[in-house]
Parts: sequence; C-alpha cells; structure tokens
Amino acid sequence: MLRKGKRFDLGGHSLECFEQADLIAVSPGVPLDIAPLKHATQNGIPLLGEIELAARECAAPIVAVTGTNGKSTTTSLLGEIFQHWGKQVFVGGNLGTPLVNACATQDWDYLVVELSSFQLETVDQFCPQYGLLLNLSEDHLDRYPDLDSYYAAKQQLFRNMGSEQTVVLNADDQQVLQLASDVMSRRVLFSGSSLINEGMGRDGGELVWRWQGEEARFKLSELQIKGAHNIENVMAAMIPALLEGCPAAIAWQAVCAFRGLEHRMNLVRELDGVSWYNDSKGTNVGSVLKSLSGLDAPVTLIAGGKDKGGDYSLLRPLLEERVSDLILIGEAASKMARELAGTAQIHHAADLADAVLLAQQVTQKSGTVLLSPACSSFDMFENFARRGDEFCRLVMQLGQRESA
Ligand code: ADP
Repeated sequence: MLRKGKRFDLGGHSLECFEQADLIAVSPGVPLDIAPLKHATQNGIPLLGEIELAARECAAPIVAVTGTNGKSTTTSLLGEIFQHWGKQVFVGGNLGTPLVNACATQDWDYLVVELSSFQLETVDQFCPQYGLLLNLSEDHLDRYPDLDSYYAAKQQLFRNMGSEQTVVLNADDQQVLQLASDVMSRRVLFSGSSLINEGMGRDGGELVWRWQGEEARFKLSELQIKGAHNIENVMAAMIPALLEGCPAAIAWQAVCAFRGLEHRMNLVRELDGVSWYNDSKGTNVGSVLKSLSGLDAPVTLIAGGKDKGGDYSLLRPLLEERVSDLILIGEAASKMARELAGTAQIHHAADLADAVLLAQQVTQKSGTVLLSPACSSFDMFENFARRGDEFCRLVMQLGQRESA
C-alpha cells in the first residue's frame, strides 16, 4: 500500500520489504532475533532504534537515564530541575514522549531521556553527555536468555561515551560499578548509605554534595517523595544539573516540590484505619523489595500478573518480616505461591476485584494494603497504569467494614 510516498506492509512481513530497506528502525518491543530481522542482518541491512535515529538529529546535550528501577522518577526529577532552572528541556524516551518528537525543534537546552534495555539494544553511535545507571537487578528474563544478556543491553549506554562525557553511578550497587568499570568517562558517584568524596552522599538526615572542595547539605525531611529508593533517585537527578552549573538551592527546590509519579507508592485511601497503597509500577522483585522496605508490618501484599522469569524467592526475608497476608493474582500466582510458601498466609484471588475484597477482609486495623505485583500487567491489563487505575477505583468503592 502506498500513501504520501510511503509504502505500508501490513498484516505480516514480506521478505521483499526487509531485503530492499536501506535501514530498519525497530520498535523496542520487537526482539532482534525474529526471522525477518535476522534475514535483514545477514543481508547487511543496519537495524537501528528510534533513539539512535532521533539522537542523530538533535544537537542539544542528552542526559540519559537507565537502570532496572527508578528510571521514570529520576527522568521526571531531572526535567523538573532543569525547568525550574529556566532551561528548555525535553523529557521523554521510554517515559511517554518518544525522542523523535524532540527533533521538530532545535530550541532545547537539554534532552532528558529515559532508556529501557530494549531501546539500548539498537543504539550505534548514540553518545549522551551524561549517562546515569541507577541500579541493576533481575528483570525481563522472559525476553533475555539470561541476566548477563540483560545487563549487556544496559551496558550499551556507555558504548560511545569517552573522556568528554560523564557517567553517574550508584556507589552502593556492585553490579553497576562492575558494568561501568571500563568506561573512560568522568565518574561521579552517589550513595544512599555513606558520604562520597567527589559526589553525592548521605549523612543521616542530610544529603551531602561534595565537589571540588565545596560542600552543600540538603535536609531529607523537606522532600515530599518518600523511601530510600527515592532518595537515590533524587541524588542521581541532582548530579547532572549541579555539574552543569545549576545553583544547588534551585535544584533542591525543584526536587522538594516533586510529589512523585502515579502508580509508584501512592497512598490511595485510608479506610477503617488501613492504608491502601498503589505501586502498580512495582513490576519486578527489586522494586517490590524497595517498596515493602518503606512500610511497617503488618502488610497485606497483592502481587502477581505476567511472570517475567525472575526469582521470587528473593522476597522471602522481607515477606517474613513485614507481610502477614499475600494475595496472589494472574498467571504467575502458582509459581509465586511455590517460591514464597511459608513466608505469609497465602491466598489466591480470581482477579484484582476479588483481591481487593479479600484484602479488606484479612487486613488488621492500622495495617497496610500494598499492590506491588513484581510482575508485568499484560495478562490482565493493557499496561501497569490501567492496572493501577483499576486498583484505585476498586479501593475507592469499598464501604466501611461492618465491624469497624
Ligand atoms: P522505572 O521507570 O525504572 O520502572 P519508576 O521510577 O517508574 O522506575 O519506579 C517504579 C517502581 O520501582 C517504584 O514503584 C518503586 O517501587 C521502584 N523504585 C523506584 N526507584 C527505585 C530505585 N532507585 N531503586 C529500586 N527501586 C526503585
């Protein structure tokens, strides 16, 4: 089919279309080892992603954010800081607006781009001015043959970064440090557990930025977003802005004004003395660990969904400590029940509505109900946001318990 000079190849892939292409731009959801793409590669046709194509057209410096968790929050925080500083900033990538949308204008001072491992698979000359690697843990093992392959995709961030660029790394994550060990770029570290000499560290209730003999301190109690993981996100986001010359007070005001993104540990409601939290974006074990560690026992955890091939047993110690009841939904339910047996009282629910009703019945007064699935949503929902919206709707519909 031809429209406005473009040919559409719909309802399947004709080999002709793949053989005659000068270049193939692959959507990040598509594995590179499917037959038509393998065929194209064998014929010497380059496969690139949208990030690579877009970055070639953009002149502004790129601040690229990746990691297993915290990407969207950190990317948004960076956007808030640059904006508050009065800069023209594009914020997008995996977080909604594709980077190609930035190419329409060259007016940007900065491009802040969230990158998934899938997007990084298809970069070639991509070279951000700042590359942030927040953390690494198990994820997407339904798409990658093993953990090393997933990490190797993340490592593509550094592929072209040299001495003119800066990498921002989590000093508390050995995998992160190891993955970046050969990078020649300037390295600036952040740590949520200790002070850092040339970088951003923590000293009790304060963040401490130490750079070229100067020191700035920021009171953590002033932040609206909570949790140890969000402190790490704040630190990572402040570093590029401070290095670019943003006044520390401006950067801090911006992060303190940030109230967090939806579906990430949002308090939905308090009912009968029970707090209900929506963490629908908690789609892997690492993120559930962080979310749970910010809550006091007893927690009723609603989890499950589409399995991504991870190891749920990593949740066992924290579940034993904090979770009284574990309500499982979705395709992963029986695997999770097996790997988490004995940690909490396990219940199976037919769907999210059933899980919410059950949670209301079993949760003690002054307890917490947390939806943090450790799985993706695609077995039951269009995406994590629909799952979170549905959870909020169901929770808002609940009436008071008769005994309350
Ligand atoms: P991503 O875009 O990488 O999925 P988000 O910022 O959307 O990350 O956060 C998703 C979930 O990951 C949050 O609900 C929280 O449970 C967890 N999380 C956020 N930041 C971090 C972090 N720095 N380390 C570990 N887990 C995190």
